[in-house]
Amino acid sequence: MLEQFQSPFDATVVQLLRNAGARIVGKANCDEFGMGSLNVHSAHGPVVNPHQTASSSASWEERERRSAGGSSGGSAAAVASSLAHVALGTDTGGSVRLPASYCGVVGLKPSYGLLSRWGLVSYADSLDCVGILGQNVQHVAQTLDLLSHYDPKDPSAVTPETRKRASEACLAHANKIDLAGKLDGLKIGIPQEYFPSELDSKILGPFRRVVDALKTLGASVVPVNMPSTPYALSAYYVIASAEASSNLARYDGIQYGLRVDAPLDADLTKTVNVYAHTRSRGFGSEVQKRILLGTYALTAGAFDNYFLQAQRVRKLVREDFDNVFRVANPLSTSSSASPSGVDVLLHPSAIRTAPLLPPSGCEPEGDSEDLSSYVQDVLTVPASLAGVPAVSVPAGLADDGWPVGVSVVSQWGYDNMVLDVARIIERTMSRQR
Ligand code: GLN
Repeated sequence: MLEQFQSPFDATVVQLLRNAGARIVGKANCDEFGMGSLNVHSAHGPVVNPHQTASSSASWEERERRSAGGSSGGSAAAVASSLAHVALGTDTGGSVRLPASYCGVVGLKPSYGLLSRWGLVSYADSLDCVGILGQNVQHVAQTLDLLSHYDPKDPSAVTPETRKRASEACLAHANKIDLAGKLDGLKIGIPQEYFPSELDSKILGPFRRVVDALKTLGASVVPVNMPSTPYALSAYYVIASAEASSNLARYDGIQYGLRVDAPLDADLTKTVNVYAHTRSRGFGSEVQKRILLGTYALTAGAFDNYFLQAQRVRKLVREDFDNVFRVANPLSTSSSASPSGVDVLLHPSAIRTAPLLPPSGCEPEGDSEDLSSYVQDVLTVPASLAGVPAVSVPAGLADDGWPVGVSVVSQWGYDNMVLDVARIIERTMSRQR
């Protein structure tokens, strides 16, 4: 749809990077309109994971081709292969954290509303966040610092007053915990619902090593319950598709991108023809599927059963997060601090290591067992529905030799706290290597 489209301006986040002296080296491949988890829905073909297993002596052509994850797989691959120190991506339901986990780099989804979305192609406005991928936590933290500014051009941007209130609360809390010292002030929750049957047991070894390392440093690690988690994935796909169907209505052959003129049809007006033919030709099959699903969820007959239900689940998921954290949600007047709560949550970022890609030249189907993409997001979508910050940090390799990521999640506005804990994990895991 946007093959020939050249944006007449830079996104605010790109402008901020340029102003600070960053060199923009290229655009990265991603799933079409950010819809996908494995990068198999890109017009350019899938991104191949650049990770090399220790045992791999095969040439690039002969090597196992695994997915770099999606949708921002190109960004993760660029960072993992040292083409860039830092890359941007969008994270609507996990598109930065999942590729980071598969490629063995750091990937942050900041709190919703912190980074400007001006210039971003919208997928689902109530979920979309600009995310940051980096070779280490420090690069990601510096980039976040640079990009986290109020932008009046972004209607979902959180006001300067709320930012100030949240960052002061975060700083005061971090000082109380004393993350620079012994970690005995830090309370980490392991959500029990984040170990579904789909989770590959290969992930558990590296995850346990991180937990043990944090315990050794003095942190207290406790199990917590987030009972709405099993419903989050279905709710996410209804909400994201509904918003996408409305957002993508702008690709109509008139305002943006491709236009396919069709001969006048006896039954249809020319406008309808241009619209239908443009969209049938311009969108890939996954995008078409989402538009149909989303449009259906918003029709009068389905609205209550799908869209409204999904919104109710979203509210419950949000409440799960507010109930579990020690600090109150700076965005909500009904949330209060709970002294017995935890400071951060820790869970595996993905249910498995990077899946195999179909052989070159084969059309990816997307629903073979290895490529059943929707379930890949099961551990990342809850934080997206709640709008809270989450970072995936490398936790070493699984027995198959491929990277595993763990996610640190905290209350809205506590982005610096998730990065501080990620930094501790990064440091201790590198010592273990
Ligand atoms: N895989 C999810 C989806 O396809 C998330 C994508 C994203 O975060 N952009 O909707």
